[in-house]
Amino acid sequence: MSTIFTKIIQGEIPSYKVAENEDFYAFLDINPNAKGHTLVVPKKEVDKIFDLDEATYTGLMQFSYKIAKAIEKTIPCNRIGQLVVGLEVPHVHVHLIPLNEMSDIDFRKSVKLSDEEFKDIAKRISESL
Ligand code: AMP
Repeated sequence: MSTIFTKIIQGEIPSYKVAENEDFYAFLDINPNAKGHTLVVPKKEVDKIFDLDEATYTGLMQFSYKIAKAIEKTIPCNRIGQLVVGLEVPHVHVHLIPLNEMSDIDFRKSVKLSDEEFKDIAKRISESL
């Protein structure tokens, strides 16, 4: 069975898309630690990051770099944090999180955003690429 992220990539489940290319897809986390929290996933469905082949791993980091730069231009913050956890969704994903304080990397923290706010953030990050 496909992962929820594969369903998002294939358009079966909606997402606030930021960018995509042939191999990777970036979209806003639906339960963000902070405004602008973005996930970057390889289209290839692999559970654990270090099970990716080296080229896909490197490509994922390069794509994440571009997205992080765009988030940095869009969301006022001290820096962008990058984390890979994967305990919830078994499909590799890089978290890019605008950070101001240590609690912003705590996944128990969540910021509530309206549909309009999600759309606006995704659009602004996308336009900063
Ligand atoms: P983890 O697997 O622990 O690295 O975290 C999975 C992340 O995916 C969490 O931050 C969730 O909020 C996020 N997530 C789960 N389902 C969706 C979805 N449908 N759209 C966007 N983000 C999601």
